[in-house]
Amino acid sequence: MKKKTISFFLVMSVLLSGCQPFHFKMQNDEGPSAAAKDNDKTSSAAEDGIEMDDREDISVKDETRQASSESGLSLPSDNFNTVIEADGKRLIQNPDNIMALVNKEFTLPESYIPADLVRPSIPFSFGDQQEEKALLRNEAAMALEKLFREAGQAGIELFAVSGYRSYNRQHAIFEAEVEQKGQAKAVEAVANPGQSEHQTGLAIDISSRSNQLLLTQQFEMTLEGKWLKENAHKYGFILRYPKGKESVTGYKYEPWHFRYVGVEAAAVIFDGDLTLEEYFNIVEKI
Ligand SMILES: [Zn+2]
Repeated sequence: MKKKTISFFLVMSVLLSGCQPFHFKMQNDEGPSAAAKDNDKTSSAAEDGIEMDDREDISVKDETRQASSESGLSLPSDNFNTVIEADGKRLIQNPDNIMALVNKEFTLPESYIPADLVRPSIPFSFGDQQEEKALLRNEAAMALEKLFREAGQAGIELFAVSGYRSYNRQHAIFEAEVEQKGQAKAVEAVANPGQSEHQTGLAIDISSRSNQLLLTQQFEMTLEGKWLKENAHKYGFILRYPKGKESVTGYKYEPWHFRYVGVEAAAVIFDGDLTLEEYFNIVEKI
């Protein structure tokens, strides 16, 4: 798939539909946690510092569908979210889907815990401690081991900081934020339980010694951050919240947060400078 082709169709679909597929309202430019983010709570806050507002219809437009069939991009229907509406939320019914789209639009069920969580053999910022955040789903864990191994061979030393995060842990983080800062500030800063991509077991936050193992935007300037940005897709991981796509993803730029989607989708997303949201808007369901 040629990058120009995808870009062309994206531009055309946006032009033809006359609006962006997602519209998020930024709460403020810096987000609530512009300061150093060196633990789970603040890294979570960084991801979730933006609240969705007056979202527009995201159903696939006819023009988009036409563009996808012309570009030859297609994906089996079971890789799309199946949702039911409950309590004003769109609850994902097939959360084991490796392509699950989790954001402020699509919520994971409270009961969802991936059945195949394992601890990959890679260095963690917290050493050998037994932590829930050391876990990932098996397929993502194997891919991440390969990524770390080949990064090492290229002289790039990486540390995993945070992987799986349970609904309950996200809930606890959210409640602690409410207690500390009040409800209004908390919803700006921390993901609602069920809306953190870390609950899929397919997301991983990565840092380096050169960035003091912190999850900060300075990571993009490091050798390790640059290597990840250019190479993660070869192992099936995408930079999930890219710079300049904040209005599409609903999140601030996070050079440390990578999401496993498999090598095929990752290649398309990388070549086309897409977000996962944009990918689903151009891919044809088959
Ligand atoms: Zn993250």
